[in-house]
Amino acid sequence: MSDEVMVRVRGVHKSYGALEVLKGVDLDVRTGEVAVVLGPSGSGKSTLLRSINHLEKVDRGYVSVGGELVGYRRAGTRLHELKEREILKQRTQIGFVFQSFNLFPHLTALENVAYAPVASQGRPRRDVLPLARSLLERVGVGDKADAYPRQLSGGQQQRVAIARALALQPRLVLFDEPTSALDPELVGEVLDVMRDLARSGTTMIVVSHEIGFAREVADTVVFMDDGRIVEQGPPSEVLGAPRHERTKAFLAKVL
Ligand code: ADP
Ligand code: MG
Repeated sequence: MSDEVMVRVRGVHKSYGALEVLKGVDLDVRTGEVAVVLGPSGSGKSTLLRSINHLEKVDRGYVSVGGELVGYRRAGTRLHELKEREILKQRTQIGFVFQSFNLFPHLTALENVAYAPVASQGRPRRDVLPLARSLLERVGVGDKADAYPRQLSGGQQQRVAIARALALQPRLVLFDEPTSALDPELVGEVLDVMRDLARSGTTMIVVSHEIGFAREVADTVVFMDDGRIVEQGPPSEVLGAPRHERTKAFLAKVL
């Protein structure tokens, strides 16, 4: 892990109507770091990831990825707002893996992985297909290149989704509960792929309650509750010796 900050979240507030979902979130993730985010349902984890990917506009504070501002507002004063085109460009540098896989049902595994480089970067199909194939190999589903999502197990679909997230060679990959829709016996194969990615130096923010994965793979564990980061640090501290009552109560439930 380097000292360079890849993701900087500062003073981020976000409301949906009267409901304040993020109440001032600060987070740094360095290049090559793996941060695992835990917290009860409704605490704002998905909203935080969506803000980092600029799928949500923050109300206050800012997010920067790779030193580039993704959104920047302060207390209602618009200091800087990116044009849609710039946002789209930055979003191509961030991979996103969802709980529900979200593969295109009418495209094969290979076409799903090749889709973004062809559609959003205009790269020729013949150049992209070898990359897509090698990504499918990397996540262990090279033999499923021509299968459609409905022909794949949940674990295979999620591994294709990870390959797809890597297709634009992102500098950051976000995972939102990537294993929580899977049958228990399929969780391990997805976590194995994520572990390999982490080992290869990919910068990752992972929302997951897989405590074993967090303990083994995370550089930093972040515990969120009610729109705030309550506690963060190495797994040995946050998981091994939590300081806050809310963290203790949450871990007692998931462990
Ligand atoms: P988590 O991922 O930690 O379960 P979320 O970030 O999904 O939490 O949601 C935090 C809160 O924001 C929840 O109360 C949720 O119902 C609410 N929320 C999330 N997205 C929206 C939305 N698009 N519109 C209104 N409320 C939302
Ligand atoms: Mg969520």
